[in-house]
Amino acid sequence: MEDAGVDALRQHADPAAPQRITVLSGGVGGAKFARGLRHYVQRVGADRAGDTPAPATVTCVVNTGDDMWLNGLRVCPDLDSVMYGLAGVNDRERGWGRAGESERVSAELLAYGVGADWFTLGDLDLATHIARTQMLREGTGLVEATRVLASRWDLGATLLPATEHEVETRVQVGDHPGDTLHFEEWWVRHRAALPARRFLHDGAPSAVPAPGVLDAIAGADLLILAPSNPIVSIGAILAIPGIREALRAAGAPVIGVSPIIGGAHVLGMAAQCLRAVGAEVSAAGVAEHLGSAGEPEGLLDGWLMDTTDAGSVARVEAHGIRAAAVPLLMTTDALTADIVHAVHQLAARVVADR
Ligand code: GDP
Ligand code: CA
Repeated sequence: MEDAGVDALRQHADPAAPQRITVLSGGVGGAKFARGLRHYVQRVGADRAGDTPAPATVTCVVNTGDDMWLNGLRVCPDLDSVMYGLAGVNDRERGWGRAGESERVSAELLAYGVGADWFTLGDLDLATHIARTQMLREGTGLVEATRVLASRWDLGATLLPATEHEVETRVQVGDHPGDTLHFEEWWVRHRAALPARRFLHDGAPSAVPAPGVLDAIAGADLLILAPSNPIVSIGAILAIPGIREALRAAGAPVIGVSPIIGGAHVLGMAAQCLRAVGAEVSAAGVAEHLGSAGEPEGLLDGWLMDTTDAGSVARVEAHGIRAAAVPLLMTTDALTADIVHAVHQLAARVVADR
């Protein structure tokens, strides 16, 4: 007798499931999405066991705009959120960092009067930054350093930093163009209370995509924009010259998932970020900000919104973007896998209509 679990998996039979999936991702929202994507791939794999031995490969191109030097260490918040999330060692209650964390080292640093009291590095998390920094100091690139860190866990996905260059997202908070803060300082220290005038991607013009990123985009048969912050996560990845062009040139459909549900972000500060760039804080507004693949500079072939926003499907489709509405709360990996299933169905519509 087959167990009920396999039966449940079978209901998601998906004969034309994609084989190479590449997703652009920020930190916490991206990590939740990546877990659901892995669940989806395993579900499809279980369903097709026997005839298709190779499961789909998942590559996450992760934002590096929030990376910073702190206490002499290279900290990569979004890469670490995705790594910890996929490894299952993330702190779900806080929403960031490692579970079961302690802060003895940070407390000692503050006793010496060094370190940033607004950005506490946990002891377990510090080991990640020390290991990464050691590799970078020895001349290892961030792609290889990330591979070595990730190889400790069974992630079921490849993590690629968007770039190995130090491109920093900064926030202009005053009238003067020079009144800027590092994004993490604006967000974590000031809780985004200082009104953002604009976001800058410092160093972007001379940066190039990290090795492997353009191939992961060109070689994919499904490209997904995770429900990550459209400005400082997805936008910071797109600021690296060559990435937007690669997405537009790719043969695979580009499908985005809305981080905005019913006019508000689920968590974080996407609303403040959207307002700062003059975009409407709505699912349709984010789609219009990212643009239709049929428009100059636009990206989207498909856009997935929450059922709350079903009324906006026609507005988005008027731009030539295929749209659908399904529940978009990533409460469990299984529910998030259902979102990925809907992404795949939307992609199939895009391909069928070509
Ligand atoms: P960060 O780098 O840690 O800020 O994380 P991301 O940029 O990857 O993700 C932040 C975005 O994820 C926010 O704009 C949230 O609205 C969105 N988000 C978080 N949880 C959910 C969810 O359950 N569903 C959807 N659709 N979006 C979510
Ligand atoms: Ca981030």
